Amino acid sequence: MRIEDAKIVAALNDLGVELRPSAWLAELTSLAIGGTTDLLRIHKHETIPDLLRLLDSHGVPHRFLGGGSNLLVGDGELSWVVLQLASPDPDVVLEGNFAQVDAAADLGRTVTYCAKHDLGGMEGLIGVPGTVGGALRMNAGAYGMQIGSYVREVKLYRAATHGIEILRGEQISFEYRHTSFAADDMMLAVKLELPSKSFKEILQGIRICNEKRRSSQPLGQKSAGCIFKNPPGASAGRMIDELGLKGLSVGDARVSDRHANFFVNAGNATAKDMLMLISSVRERVRSAFSVELEHEVVIWNA
Ligand SMILES: Cc1cc2nc3c(=O)[nH]c(=O)nc-3n(C[C@H](O)[C@H](O)[C@H](O)COP(=O)(O)OP(=O)(O)OC[C@H]3O[C@@H](n4cnc5c(N)ncnc54)[C@H](O)[C@@H]3O)c2cc1C
Repeated sequence: MRIEDAKIVAALNDLGVELRPSAWLAELTSLAIGGTTDLLRIHKHETIPDLLRLLDSHGVPHRFLGGGSNLLVGDGELSWVVLQLASPDPDVVLEGNFAQVDAAADLGRTVTYCAKHDLGGMEGLIGVPGTVGGALRMNAGAYGMQIGSYVREVKLYRAATHGIEILRGEQISFEYRHTSFAADDMMLAVKLELPSKSFKEILQGIRICNEKRRSSQPLGQKSAGCIFKNPPGASAGRMIDELGLKGLSVGDARVSDRHANFFVNAGNATAKDMLMLISSVRERVRSAFSVELEHEVVIWNA
């Protein structure tokens, strides 16, 4: 979608929102799949209510992009614009055991920065790409931990009230790859409370998690992490593997040989290829195990 109305362009400029015309989302997503649309980069949280009022009043649909590491975006010209937060400097401020982190901060760098200041707990998140905002939205987790356990406050924009609010940790429910945020809530910043640990001890934990990832995931390939959530008490990857589907391909979209719940773009896969592969695997799991797999990857195809 192109924003060409001069009045909107001027208003964006007044708000200090940067308009990047025809951004190619394949370049902004870890799967390297996705068409083009205008990208709006937000430099100040305070401008968000006015920005959204502007877009809504002109009927400009929008979606919210973090680091693009859990997204499958449709092909061609997209029918909505994309909003993305620019990262302030500094994006992490520490005070005792609390870390105040901007949603645009890179998750891995945040974990490392906290670790260097003897704050641990998030070792399992070290190989999870993307932003802190995306991790909050998805309640990212690995190896028995999840970011939600450390959340004490979240600053967010609520479309329902058109305002910026602060929620306390106990007002939010964090479940397996699911949170109680509304679909159109936009995470802006978070206050985490992290346990004190020595850098050496944290580093040891990080090394163990890194080794587990390296030995089981196709890290050098383009993916969005796990495509499906694990059903209660079961493993989606194990079910797909048991059906002998590793290596199954549609065009360049392929079930990883390394981890059956990672689907990779082995070349020039399109969203159409990847969606066909996802639905074919889902169908086979349904007929073999009577289990309806739920997507973990967020699909922006309409
Ligand atoms: C190699 C690899 C390994 C991975 N391993 C793991 C893992 O171990 N555990 C795990 O949980 N995930 C894993 N993932 C998936 C992914 O990295 C996480 O879900 C990550 O937290 C997504 O963050 P993001 O910023 O990239 O979000 P995006 O992909 O940009 O967006 C994902 C969703 O979050 C929304 N969103 C993003 N930012 C915000 C915000 N500020 N406010 C509101 N909504 C927002 C988007 O609208 C979208 O709906 C992996 C991915 C890859 C490629």
